[in-house]
Amino acid sequence: MLYYIRYSEVGLKGKQVKRFENILRENLLTQLPKEISPRIEFKQKRGFLYVDADNFKAVEEVLSRTFGVAWYGPVEEFKFKNVDDILKHIEPFRSFSVDIKRYDKSLPFTSLDLFHRISAKFAGRVSKEAEIKIKIFLYSANVAHIVVYKPGPGGLPVGSSGRGIVLFSGGIDSPVAAYLLAKRGIRLDLLHFHKPGVDIDKIKRLAKILSGYIPGLRLFSASTRYFREAVIEKEFAYKLQVFRRFMILVASKLGWRKFRKSFVIGTGDSLGQVASQTLSNLVGVTSVLCDYGINNVFIARPLVGLDKVEIIDLAKKIGTYRISLEQYPDCCANVAAFGVKTVSNTQKIREFEAQIDLEQLANSTVEEIKQVQYT
Ligand code: ATP
Ligand code: MG
Repeated sequence: MLYYIRYSEVGLKGKQVKRFENILRENLLTQLPKEISPRIEFKQKRGFLYVDADNFKAVEEVLSRTFGVAWYGPVEEFKFKNVDDILKHIEPFRSFSVDIKRYDKSLPFTSLDLFHRISAKFAGRVSKEAEIKIKIFLYSANVAHIVVYKPGPGGLPVGSSGRGIVLFSGGIDSPVAAYLLAKRGIRLDLLHFHKPGVDIDKIKRLAKILSGYIPGLRLFSASTRYFREAVIEKEFAYKLQVFRRFMILVASKLGWRKFRKSFVIGTGDSLGQVASQTLSNLVGVTSVLCDYGINNVFIARPLVGLDKVEIIDLAKKIGTYRISLEQYPDCCANVAAFGVKTVSNTQKIREFEAQIDLEQLANSTVEEIKQVQYT
């Protein structure tokens, strides 16, 4: 059986189309169960990607969470002589929407004519808001395609916009941040900081869910051992700030080792949601890049434009919300126990970092980062 896959935005990118399409195809093959992927065939026809597969249930499941897919559905292809022939091929759904594309401009009827005939035959059933949606394509040589389609997740194919690392805490926000960055085509890895000796099962389960959206996702875990040992005895009001800068520093070093080029560091920070996320504090964290001469990193905070309610809705949709709520020994909690400042004092922070040699702590931490198996 043949299925349409319509990619979103990709179609607009001219010469890039081939590259995007290849990435999309690779991603689908990676995500499909191994027993299906060898039997799947892609066809490029009339600007669409088609997939020929016998077990479409599994393929559909993967398409529904593959970024870059605008919509997909099975194709019925047939020849027609007139409008009546086309009408015969339309299933009498209780309620459905119709979208018509007429590529053959020499046909003796317009899209609108056909639409009116359909509306007349299925009186009261054709509605723009209907859940069932069909598209009719009219090609030359009187060939028509009818597709009953479902919307895909949209966005760009993962890998088409470069690489990234998301600081992954196990809370509600960072999984959503990862989802949104992957949706813009970034191939992500996750980096989680944990207290020494803590069981990170919860983090693995969250990563597993995200791997359904992000082909090739890896989870890295870093112990906060060196950092804790260096700061535990010290009195300092901005420890949480220093820890956040430390996480960015470690992620920069890890990313450079893995990618050797520019990349994104994503966080689940919002703006003004909690005391640590004031503008002053976010600037204080961002300036770690400048302070340590890191010039190949862009820090992305995709949740800045969202309310907590919107973030929670997304977490539920992605499927991470329930796990995120589970109790987990957050490594930040200890640091935060020293109090959170809403205004950053970068001068003091830099002096403190020199005293504890933050760069060296980051280097030692990167050396011991583990790649975790989450499948
Ligand atoms: P989240 O729900 O993602 O934990 P949050 O609203 O609780 O976010 P914070 O705990 O202040 O906010 O953390 C802000 C961001 O810092 C997180 O979204 C995440 O990107 C990063 N972060 C915090 N703790 C960790 C950690 N243990 N490991 C990796 N990243 C972390
Ligand atoms: Mg948190």
